[in-house]
Amino acid sequence: MASPIDVPALLRRLGIDSESTNAGAYDGAFTHGDGGELVSHSPADGARLASVAQATRDDYERSVRTGLETFDRWRMLPAPQRGEVLRQIAEALRASKDDLGALVSLEMGKVLSEGLGEVQEMIDIADFGVGLSRQLYGLTMHSERPQHRMYEQWHPLGTVGVISAFNFPVAVWAWNAFIAMVCGDVALWKPSEKTPLSALAVCHIIDPVLERTGWRGVLNCVIGDVDEVGEPMLDDRRLPLVSATGSCRMGKIVGPRVAARLGRSLLELGGNNAIIVLDDANLDLALVATAFGAVGTAGQRCTSTRRLLVQKGVAAELTERLVKSYSSIRIGHPLEDGVLCGPLIDGDAVTMFTDAVARIRADGGEILCGGSAVDRPGHYVEPTIARVPPDFAFAKDETFAPILYVMEVDDLDHAIRVNNDVPQGLSSAVFTDSMRAAERFLSHAGSDCGIANVNIGTSGAEIGGAFGGEKETGGGREAGSDAWKAYMRRQTCTLNWGDDLPLAQGVTFDV
Ligand code: NAD
Repeated sequence: MASPIDVPALLRRLGIDSESTNAGAYDGAFTHGDGGELVSHSPADGARLASVAQATRDDYERSVRTGLETFDRWRMLPAPQRGEVLRQIAEALRASKDDLGALVSLEMGKVLSEGLGEVQEMIDIADFGVGLSRQLYGLTMHSERPQHRMYEQWHPLGTVGVISAFNFPVAVWAWNAFIAMVCGDVALWKPSEKTPLSALAVCHIIDPVLERTGWRGVLNCVIGDVDEVGEPMLDDRRLPLVSATGSCRMGKIVGPRVAARLGRSLLELGGNNAIIVLDDANLDLALVATAFGAVGTAGQRCTSTRRLLVQKGVAAELTERLVKSYSSIRIGHPLEDGVLCGPLIDGDAVTMFTDAVARIRADGGEILCGGSAVDRPGHYVEPTIARVPPDFAFAKDETFAPILYVMEVDDLDHAIRVNNDVPQGLSSAVFTDSMRAAERFLSHAGSDCGIANVNIGTSGAEIGGAFGGEKETGGGREAGSDAWKAYMRRQTCTLNWGDDLPLAQGVTFDV
């Protein structure tokens, strides 16, 4: 079916021309790269949206140089004034929220309320960054030496490389770039090749603000092939930090490569998130949280619920209610009212889904509902529930699709063991009315994930907390709390205001 909105008009409002090839690099100026045409199609119906002229290694070089030159000036601007530039970016995003949210839905496939929610997340982190610009605190310590003062302060790092995934095509960049810029860094963005237009639209939204404030060159972007603009970041000593969001496969390349030059990486990788439902849980809450977590964004969130670990006493009832609720979930174009499940990102993702279902069946799992691709233009699949034993080996892999494994567990201890028995460690949740069970789940002997929730599902984090996960999820933390420290370097300073030079630890050195 045709798109419910006038797509060329939407793109035009966001600075994108659907008729001709658009710039693929932005470093204060928009440049058409020589890296070939990258066409973006909507996963909703396969329609061509627009194309970009991909950036090459030369564009990458130019953008890095622009960033370095800008950094020399930007780091000298007081942090609250950097925050003021970000405040104006937040205003620009507010003005474009509806359009950018719609484009994210069209290009990535998430339903409109989630597309709008993603832009709201950008606005939220911008607002957070504005406040943070007055709170980049360091500690003071008591020196052991008389008439000495010791304290620590935080300095900007330089250029931060930001590699982002397709499933959050704009918000993840904002988490990184907005905090980095407030910290005094400049950011160079390599967006996903699957969502180039969303990135380009963001550049068009922020450009007038950067121009007006005189700060073009602080936020730069290269849309291009991994070989041309992705991998160069990994080996580039001019980028002290590379923040990379994506699959564990990608993280296993990025981490060692950046480490080989003793650079820093901040890795936000795959998840395999479980909701535990105990016998005493409020099943109404658990049902909605599980359905949203498993089906929202068509199962393409890093925090999507992939495993439901349900205690024996409520397993049959909850499973039956879930299967029933799945039958009322409308699959369809993400911009259509009432649709809860949009498409997967592309044909490969559909193949991955059907292969996974075949593997589940072959390994003895029982498909309770769904399990097929949907026969219509676009890349749609049915939300799927599979009943499998708790030690089902294939469930340890992240399949980036709406497949929920239901596993029956004996008790909380058993559930925690199963929760933790996967390579990834991003998000987790327990549903229970028992304070003791909740505290046990949250304790150091409980969930081993970076996110642990009680009576809330695994997906839909707020920006105020530090976001990220353990084990193969990569260990990085982004967004709120003190995650800003990853974008700065710490300096410990000791000042002597006395007439003597006492040495630490009572050491003497008389000359
Ligand atoms: P992906 O790993 O295929 O790609 C992510 C990004 O990495 C893209 O921009 C891609 O071009 C780039 N990339 C890939 N190989 C690279 C290399 N060798 N050098 C430099 N860049 C490289 O992931 P995807 O399919 O876009 O996204 C889905 C995955 O991302 C899922 O596993 C999901 O769980 C994960 N994810 C994690 C988080 C988190 O915060 N933990 C958030 C969103 C997505």
